[in-house]
Amino acid sequence: MRPIDSSIIALDMEKLQTVTDVDLREKRVLVRVDFNVPLDGGKVANCSRIVAALPTISYLLGQSAKVILMSHLGRPNGKKNLNYSLKPVAQELSRLLNRPVLFLDDCIGPSVASTVDELDDGSVVLLENLRFYGEEEANDSAFSAKLASYGDAYVNDAFGAAHRAHASTVGVPRLLPIKVAGFLMQKELEFLGNRTANPERPFAVLLGGAKVSDKIGVIDALLDRCDKMLIGGAMAYTLLFANGESVGNSPVQKDRSEAAAAAIAKAKRKGVEFLLPVDHLCSNFVDVASKKIGKTQIMDGPIADGWQGVDIGPKTIGRFGKAIADAKTILWNGPVGIFEIPGCAEGTLAIAKFIGDSKAISIVGGGDSIDALDRSGRSKDITFISTGGGASLEFLEGKELPGAAALSTKNG
Ligand code: AMP
Repeated sequence: MRPIDSSIIALDMEKLQTVTDVDLREKRVLVRVDFNVPLDGGKVANCSRIVAALPTISYLLGQSAKVILMSHLGRPNGKKNLNYSLKPVAQELSRLLNRPVLFLDDCIGPSVASTVDELDDGSVVLLENLRFYGEEEANDSAFSAKLASYGDAYVNDAFGAAHRAHASTVGVPRLLPIKVAGFLMQKELEFLGNRTANPERPFAVLLGGAKVSDKIGVIDALLDRCDKMLIGGAMAYTLLFANGESVGNSPVQKDRSEAAAAAIAKAKRKGVEFLLPVDHLCSNFVDVASKKIGKTQIMDGPIADGWQGVDIGPKTIGRFGKAIADAKTILWNGPVGIFEIPGCAEGTLAIAKFIGDSKAISIVGGGDSIDALDRSGRSKDITFISTGGGASLEFLEGKELPGAAALSTKNG
């Protein structure tokens, strides 16, 4: 067992105060949630982020608190744009909670102030999209002060927004005496923090996805913690290229080739088993937008010119499966092929099955990985499914999350 560099643990989660550490009974509690959900035809297309916030909301209702929820949705660029209204979310939340949720068509202003003042204990209000005001992302102090005036206490359960220093994540908690983490925030920090910093070993990390540039920081940080690193997806080709292998027309970020070579060298130095694909499903034509591919064939080893890797091959699936089966902790983020094209999803679906079958502590993040678990019916077999995209990656990279750092710790 290799010693762990304790400096990589950016935040000691045991010390963060949560909703159960403070008295919130009958208080006006401002809760930052991440209701940035996909909408389709004016309805919520996927409610998993709303469901993830229910434990905190239900707990607060059990405390007869007046629950004032605030969130962003999409990128309305500081302007009121009803395509990004949270109104459909209020309806969905009301259905899930089986109780009325009052929706306010603004997030600040006199009508918000008077409504909040008259709230009954145990009621729920959802404010309109915070990003209808540019002041939210600018972390404007007057905007923060208006929001803060609606609450006696602040709860942050929006892990997915915790990597942003915005008014609702940093400005508001600065102004309130009680500022604590919700259950979802606590769980995300626990699984992506402590469970990967002090993992049950062997600890296998599987990363896939489009760009090595998005994840090179995570690769580097996790090489300090893991025993095996498995890389698939488009990003594997930059690593294979850096290793001097022929990758044909596969996507390569040549400007990241040095960083990729440094990661491979670091793995060697640290004794981390570094698994790159050894065979590939290749195609001579790919158009992701129209989900079309040309001819396909498995290529063992080097990829011929005119062909590009679109999924991991059967030998790689077998090797990755074995590494996953041997692990006691598994972290997975990102598809190992062009998951959205039907013929290129086999590798990613196989990974979902391997992780579902494993008895290890499993932590999964990223839209495509979560989709693959859903499609293969394995979501229920996963220890923790992370709701945070960019926030998860930044936290795994060892960066401080401003939204978590703004909360009180148990010792002050
Ligand atoms: P990310 O958002 O970084 O997790 O990347 C997800 C994207 O990576 C998906 O849209 C996949 O289509 C893409 N991807 C995975 N493998 C490949 C590949 N071999 N070639 C091109 N794109 C890929």
